[in-house]
Amino acid sequence: MARRERRVEFDEVWMRRYLIAANWKMHGSLEMVHKFAEGFDQGVDLGADVVLFPPAVYLGAVQGLTSKYVQLGMQDVGVASEGAHTGEIAASMVKDVGGSWVIVGHSERRTDQSESDVLVAQKFASAIAADLSPIVCVGETLAQREAGDAFAVVSKQLQAVIELCGVSALVKGAIAYEPLWAIGTGLTATPEQAGQMHASIRELVAGLDQDTAQAVRIIYGGSVNPENAGLLFAQDEIDGALVGGASLQAASFAAIVAAI
Ligand code: PEP
Repeated sequence: MARRERRVEFDEVWMRRYLIAANWKMHGSLEMVHKFAEGFDQGVDLGADVVLFPPAVYLGAVQGLTSKYVQLGMQDVGVASEGAHTGEIAASMVKDVGGSWVIVGHSERRTDQSESDVLVAQKFASAIAADLSPIVCVGETLAQREAGDAFAVVSKQLQAVIELCGVSALVKGAIAYEPLWAIGTGLTATPEQAGQMHASIRELVAGLDQDTAQAVRIIYGGSVNPENAGLLFAQDEIDGALVGGASLQAASFAAIVAAI
């Protein structure tokens, strides 16, 4: 079925455009930013939201070098709106410098910074309050999958956001399903495994609000590359990708975007 036919109208806005996001994590340099911008010359609207998440300090440099069809975001955001919080960056500041997206609850932060489901939900709320679009990452470990707990884990992570922000807030951002065992490992969930989890997430949301379920974008992350992107995007329930390693080179990220 053609992708375009699957889009649904929600509040008079066409939703479920593909969302393809590049999470550079703590990689990059000014030199890399220039090289990437030379190779990633997106001059048209491909019918997708293409978002780059460089390390925060390079946001301005990336912004100066990319076209209007490339949006920008931060890999994390503070909960407080301002004040004595050394090292934190407020959502309003992201907005102020031209960012429109943030990632919250990436598994690396949940692990390295011990971010709880509640804190992730608070970050989601602070992004929404500043009129940013938050991508909330959810996903299970291999042990949790093997124990049959994958959906319970994902559902608990998502419920924290829904409880604090309300289910309809999900439409203002997106959900990224990122199984931890597939991040940076070269192991990708099969299109069927990912599709099944995405369908279960959509069902969970539909149990609370049908319109939100139809409109919310659920993207997949975990070793997406130019070779597997097309098969993943062919799944009805997969609305795009959060790409780590393969987003560091312009050519491979462009090939993933082209796979839509
Ligand atoms: C990520 O950083 O969210 C990610 C999915 O990384 P990778 O594509 O390298 O697995």
